[in-house]
Formats: sequence, C-alpha cells, structure tokens
Amino acid sequence: MAPTPARANAQYARHYTAHVVKKGESLSGIARAYGCSIKSIQETNGLTGAKIRRGEALAIPPCGPGGALAEREPRSAARASAPVRHRVRKGESLSRIARAYGCSVADLRAHNGLEGSVIMPGQELLIPRSEAAKAPEILGQSVGVPQQGRLVNASRLRPGKGYLLRRPERTYGTSQLVHYVREVIGSVRTQHPKAHRLAIGDLSSRLGGPLSGHRSHQSGRDIDIGLFYSKRPSGYPDEFKPGSAGNLDMDATWTMIKEFAATAKHDGGVEVIFLDYELQRALYAWARKQGVPRTTLRTILQYPSGRWEDAGVVQHYPNHVDHIHVRFKCPKGDKGCS
Ligand SMILES: [Zn+2]
Repeated sequence: MAPTPARANAQYARHYTAHVVKKGESLSGIARAYGCSIKSIQETNGLTGAKIRRGEALAIPPCGPGGALAEREPRSAARASAPVRHRVRKGESLSRIARAYGCSVADLRAHNGLEGSVIMPGQELLIPRSEAAKAPEILGQSVGVPQQGRLVNASRLRPGKGYLLRRPERTYGTSQLVHYVREVIGSVRTQHPKAHRLAIGDLSSRLGGPLSGHRSHQSGRDIDIGLFYSKRPSGYPDEFKPGSAGNLDMDATWTMIKEFAATAKHDGGVEVIFLDYELQRALYAWARKQGVPRTTLRTILQYPSGRWEDAGVVQHYPNHVDHIHVRFKCPKGDKGCS
C-alpha cells in the first residue's frame, strides 16, 4: 500500500502523459492521437465540456498500447512506430534521459551502441520505442521557490464534485498538486459521503508569480483548503470559517489531513501542511479517543512537540484556524523547482 518514492514515481509517470494544448487543437483530436475516448480525458481532468485552452496541460490517461485503460487501436499507430529521437542538452546524463522517457539506461545503451555513460550535448539518441510509448515524466512546471517563483504550462484544478473553487483565476498548479488534491478529496468523499462541500481557496495564478494576500503561492505548489464542520456554517464554502473543537467535523477533517500526509512519502507529494497549533491539539485529542496510536499521530501532527518544533507533516502557522495550507514537494530531478 505504501510504495517507495521511486516506485510511486514510476507508477505515476507510467500512468499519465502531460499534453500541453497547442493552437488549433481540439479535445477530440487529442483523444484520437492518444487512442483515448473523449470521456476518459474529460474524467481525468475534471472537464465537463469540450472546451480546452491553448497552453493548458492535460493529463492523458494510459489508453494506448499496453495502457491499463487500453480502449482501441490508436489512430496514431503510424506515429507511434516512428523512432523517437532525443537531442542531448547540456548537463543531461544518460540516467536522466532514461528516467524522462521511462526506460532503463541499459535500453538506451543497447539502442545507441553506447559502451559507457558518456554522451555529448547535441548528440542524438534513439529512444527505445515500446518504452517511449509510455509517458514521459512530467517535469518543469514549478520554477523557483513558493515565495519567489512562477509556473510554466500550468495544470488547472477544475470544478468537481464535493468542492467549490472560490476564485477560478487562482486554480493553477503543478500536475502533481492537481492529481493529489483530486485523489484526496475523492477519497474523503468516499469515506464521508455525507460531508458538506469543501471550500478551495487559492492555488496559484496561471503564470504564477506574486499573488495578492499571500507571500507564497507563487510556484504552483501551494493550495489553501477549508475544513469540514459538523454543521456547515452559513457563508461556507464561499468563505473560510474559523474551526474549533466545538464546530469541526473532526472525523472528515482528520481523514483529509491524514490522506494528504500519506502522500508525503511519494515523489511530488505533500511537503508540509500548515494548521494552527490549537486545532492540532483538538485533532490530536479526538484521534486519541478514536484509538489512533501515538506513534501514528507523531508522524502526522506537530502537536504535542511544541509549536516551533520540527515534528510531523502538519506545522503550526499563525492564523491558520479556518483552513489548511498544503504545500507539495518539488518532483525529484526537477532542477528548476526549489
Ligand atoms: Zn496559503
């Protein structure tokens, strides 16, 4: 159930391809090119219609040959049979290229008659075809640090079941962030089908950079998410509302935090969750009553170590009483992200 980071990343890379929409492309054309149904692409990306925007990154599920969702022979068979070539850029290593295409270094050596690992910038490499048909690793969306950064080929958190996007122009992030947020919300909904709609605050703007009201949220790795209440407060989910031991749906809120924290061991998963220390105290007390072992709680909550101690995935941050701020790690090998 808990794959190692390397393994989780390989699975992730194999399951999705990032496709950046180019001028003049349609959803149906993209679906055809990847041998997917329109519906599978819509579902993966939370699209309700056929409208897509130039420059937006779509996650393409594995519909092609060998894909888990293989639906039919792709029309792009001719393209798929053409050899894939990669021109070596400065600073690239054989292992990095292998990782990017989801193949092994040994495969690359065999296909290119290489003896060792020495490659030169400008050199053209043949990428083993069957492996190249699998997804290349999704890299390079988040640039810089959350407090001074930007976003390239942003992915977008689309409207979906169970949550409200408060500001649609601030719903951009990395593909990893969008993927994990949708997974966690879906999982919380399955476990708590009666929970009310969740408020989603700001992610980043489409190009990243400074965002009013925040110091971070610049590089697509941050998202503010509301809490679950026993009784939905009036005005929520259009606005965040302060949570307390008295008004929170502890069960659903705890599930959400636990599920986000569980992605911390995956590549590109959660780095830190900011939440006020007093709310951590309330969650801790509730979880102990439910019989959650202290050893489990220690890996998730900073409480009771002290509000300035480096312990757990959840960390105290002043004023975070009405939402959690979830920050995701840089994917391994992404040199622009820090
Ligand atoms: Zn925030």
